[in-house]
Amino acid sequence: MSIPKETIEYIRERVRIEDIAMKYIPSLKKKGKNYIGLCPFHREKTPSFSVSPDKQIFHCFGCNTGGNVFTFISKIENIEFLESVKRAADIAGVAIRDENPEKNEGSIEKIRRINRYAMNFYNSYLKSDAGRAGRDYLESRGIDSAAIDSFMIGYAPDAWDRLCSSLKKNNADLALSEKTGLLGKAKTGNLNYFPDI
Ligand code: ZN
Repeated sequence: MSIPKETIEYIRERVRIEDIAMKYIPSLKKKGKNYIGLCPFHREKTPSFSVSPDKQIFHCFGCNTGGNVFTFISKIENIEFLESVKRAADIAGVAIRDENPEKNEGSIEKIRRINRYAMNFYNSYLKSDAGRAGRDYLESRGIDSAAIDSFMIGYAPDAWDRLCSSLKKNNADLALSEKTGLLGKAKTGNLNYFPDI
C-alpha cells in the first residue's frame, strides 16, 4: 500500500508531536516554548531530549536523534515509516485510502466485465444450435434448462480462439483477459494468438 503525499501531510497536521511524545516519555515537561525530558533513545540522567510544538519536531542534544512525528513513532516503536504514518493516522482518527483507488477499482470492474462477458458467451453458445451436444449431455445428467439458467452453465466450442476473437471484436483488454485466466498465450510466441484454455 502506498499513501499519497497529501494524506501524509494531512495526518502530520492533525497530530501533535508533544502529545505523542508525552505518552512515551513520562519525564517530558514544558520548559518555555519547548518540552524537555529524558531521551528514550539513549541512556541519560540529565534531560537532553527536546520537542518543539512550534516546529513539530524533536531533537536530542545527547545522541543527535531527531525528526518529525513519524520519525519519532517509527523509532520508538521500531516500525517502518509507512507503519508510523498509519499509527499516527489511527491516533488522529484519519482514514487512509490506498493511492490510485480509482485505477484499482477500474481494473476490478474491467475484470468483472470480461468474466461476465465470457459467462454469457459460453452460455449463449450452449443455447445455440451448435450447443446441441452440450445440452444433450446435460439432459443425460438430469440438468434441466432452469438449472442451466440459474448457474449460467456454458458450453465451449471445439475451437481454440472463439472467445478470444469475440473479446477482440468487442475491444476487450486482451492482456487483462489473459491475467484472469480466461485466455492463454500460445507457445508459438505469437502475441496475437490467444487460444481459449
Ligand atoms: Zn538521545
